Amino acid sequence: LLIIIRGFPVRKFLQRFSIVFFSSHFLFLSSVSTRSMASKTPVGFIGLGNMGSPMAKNLLRNGYPVIATDVFPESCKGLLDLGAQVVDSPAEVAEKADRIITMLPSSPNVIDVYTGPNGILKKVKKGTLLIDSSTIDPSVSKEMAVAAEKMGAVFMDAPVSGGVGAASMAKLTFMVGGVEEEYNAAQELLTCMGANVVYCGQVGSGQAAKICNNMLLAIGMIGTAETMNLGIRLGLDPKLLAKILNMSSGRCWSSDTYNPVPGVMEGVPSANNYQGGFGATLMAKDLGLAQNTATNTKTPIPLGSLAHQIYRVMCSRGYANKDFSSVFQFLREEE
Ligand code: NAD
Repeated sequence: LLIIIRGFPVRKFLQRFSIVFFSSHFLFLSSVSTRSMASKTPVGFIGLGNMGSPMAKNLLRNGYPVIATDVFPESCKGLLDLGAQVVDSPAEVAEKADRIITMLPSSPNVIDVYTGPNGILKKVKKGTLLIDSSTIDPSVSKEMAVAAEKMGAVFMDAPVSGGVGAASMAKLTFMVGGVEEEYNAAQELLTCMGANVVYCGQVGSGQAAKICNNMLLAIGMIGTAETMNLGIRLGLDPKLLAKILNMSSGRCWSSDTYNPVPGVMEGVPSANNYQGGFGATLMAKDLGLAQNTATNTKTPIPLGSLAHQIYRVMCSRGYANKDFSSVFQFLREEE
């Protein structure tokens, strides 16, 4: 630090440099933070289904005005009653909000909502933060990020873990991928809807984490369902068997929190004829994503592939709209 460059003391150089550095950094930060500092400006929300609806309600509860749209306008009724503004298309949402969250079923819906003729990117404002919480193919998240960047907007993937109950109680876990500098702005909104917000890395990495989790969830659910079924056939009382599993090494989320056998637990889809919750179609879709990514990376996933086939068969045999824990009922019917 005592070195002199051409007679110019380094300390002075560093002082000058830091002014330039900090002022350019400040300029950068100020462009990022104009949006996030305006914390109670309207937030756009697209896709008001099982998950999107309670998530958007939590934004309203936290004082954020919400501008919403869904391809089925009746899905927005609950939000409208709570004071949200409902508009006709994603493009209209983009005209009115500079932070937008999407919660859609699958990759084609996301492509349509972002890049379609009435899509967000048709009217998006420069600097807008776009957060997609749908579970989709990581490569589609990357494509959307590139398309958004061309319009001067920022796209992040933030898929969730936790079902409809967790969405209602703002207890979701968000897995976030995207530009790290934008993470704080995303976090401000996501903490209104979730208990855990985890930064995973570059865009698409939130989806990667989510797909891995759901593949394990499916394998665990099928394993729990066939184990419970075998125990019942061996004459064990299902509640007793669940109790023993849950104090033993076979315990997992599907056995202790979301048991698939009717009568074992209350407040779960198996207690309600497998209505609500996480549909078998969505699980089949997530396993398809796991299969694609495993094929692309030459990764063996024998149990993930089998789970995919089981959920696909279920969907073609009338289970498509039942909760994914209905695999227990499916296995009973197979007998
Ligand atoms: P859903 O089908 O209940 O809701 C999706 C909503 O998006 C629907 O209201 C639909 O009308 C709307 N939509 C579809 N296309 C649209 C378009 N072009 N424009 C506007 N709206 C459109 O699905 P969900 O259960 O809310 O799940 C959403 C996402 O979250 C999925 O990717 C799912 O895999 C994931 N997820 C769901 C759960 C769960 O327990 N349900 C849990 C974790 C993650």
